[in-house]
Amino acid sequence: MFTPDKIQQQIVASIRQFVERKVIPVASRLEHNDEYPHEIVAGMKELGLFGCNVPEEYGGLGLSYTTFAMIVEELSRGWMSVVGPIGTHSVICDIINRFGTEEQRREYLPGLASGERRGGLALSEADAGTDVQRISTVATRTENGYLINGSKMWITNGRYGDTFVLAAKTDTKADPPHKGISAFIVEKGKGFNVVRDIDKLGYRGVETCELYFDNLFVPAKNLIGGRENEGFKQVMTGLESERINVAARGVGLARAAFEDAIHYAQQRHTFNKPICEHQAIQIMLAEMGVKIEAARLLTYSAAEKKDRGERCDLECGMAKLFATETAQEVAWQAMRVHGGAGYSKDLNVERYYRDAPLLVIGGGTNELQRLVIARRLVEKYPVK
Ligand SMILES: Cc1cc2nc3c(=O)[nH]c(=O)nc-3n(C[C@H](O)[C@H](O)[C@H](O)COP(=O)(O)OP(=O)(O)OC[C@H]3O[C@@H](n4cnc5c(N)ncnc54)[C@H](O)[C@@H]3O)c2cc1C
Repeated sequence: MFTPDKIQQQIVASIRQFVERKVIPVASRLEHNDEYPHEIVAGMKELGLFGCNVPEEYGGLGLSYTTFAMIVEELSRGWMSVVGPIGTHSVICDIINRFGTEEQRREYLPGLASGERRGGLALSEADAGTDVQRISTVATRTENGYLINGSKMWITNGRYGDTFVLAAKTDTKADPPHKGISAFIVEKGKGFNVVRDIDKLGYRGVETCELYFDNLFVPAKNLIGGRENEGFKQVMTGLESERINVAARGVGLARAAFEDAIHYAQQRHTFNKPICEHQAIQIMLAEMGVKIEAARLLTYSAAEKKDRGERCDLECGMAKLFATETAQEVAWQAMRVHGGAGYSKDLNVERYYRDAPLLVIGGGTNELQRLVIARRLVEKYPVK
């Protein structure tokens, strides 16, 4: 059993209250209308959630990855989409804090921490997701900086965000290609175009956009860490925290589905007893409960390892893989427990069922996680 400390318990209690009062009552309506949750986001800003992982000296809360995962779990239990505005936002805070120059930290982190600035990560392209090295957005040097040309796909916070960490090629001939990728802090302005909001199966209410850059000027001072061709490592390291975050979303979503299912199973009667007394339903509830607990333990164990500053790509991959597959399975089982009612838009179960697949795909697909996990396990067990 994972036991949060006193402060973590207080934080979780206040987020849970926020979710019960402000998120759950409106989630279904906003989600079905694909409407941006402006009021919820304003409330999250008030709670300081945009600065969770920004150090206090730059105006943030300076929370641990473990505490952040708890917050994400609670928010996701209410509605997975509301994690969107702080998800990749927090990843870019991490990248800037870890790899940025002191000048970049001072210029960007306070605004990001307060939520005045809203961040996103512009990595994927129409032709490059898992294989990041294939990106074709280029950054060409000019006298004082770079001109960015190309396009990005699937960029969460693309419309309401204003500050992005963007990966682009500064050396198109590098071999291997990842040695030619640099990361930049880019802001909206001339040459930054939001082409469209992508219509999605789930994760609705928050925007995921296609972006197009036409000679977007980025000053040289916005090259992260002032280091050309080191963007791949900078961004990939940032994705470790993204995996913890995605795993925690999975735990939250699975919990919501499980809670709805168990309450329904206690109330719904068939053949003169509540369905939770039928063995077939009991087996499903037991499997759901065990998997959620295991997913939670893996998630917090990975987060704690990251908090200790230890290498944790294996643990983050395991947590992301297991927690998100659990979310997908539990959402489906919850629908089965609900019978026909679960298929109706009147209940939240159908939303969990539509939201869960993104967790399997985003933050590095689960096929990729399996590759990372297997590679690390083989390393850990040398040939005898
Ligand atoms: C709603 C949403 C929000 C997103 N938000 C962002 C964002 O904010 N910023 C951002 O940069 N990106 C974002 N993404 C993009 C996301 O990270 C990618 O979709 C994801 O990395 C997969 O890339 P892809 O879609 O190009 O699939 P592909 O890479 O084309 O993969 C297709 C299939 O092949 C499999 N595959 C690929 N390579 C291998 C391999 N070596 N071995 C085995 N199987 C393999 C994959 O697992 C998958 O099943 C978002 C995506 C979605 C759907």
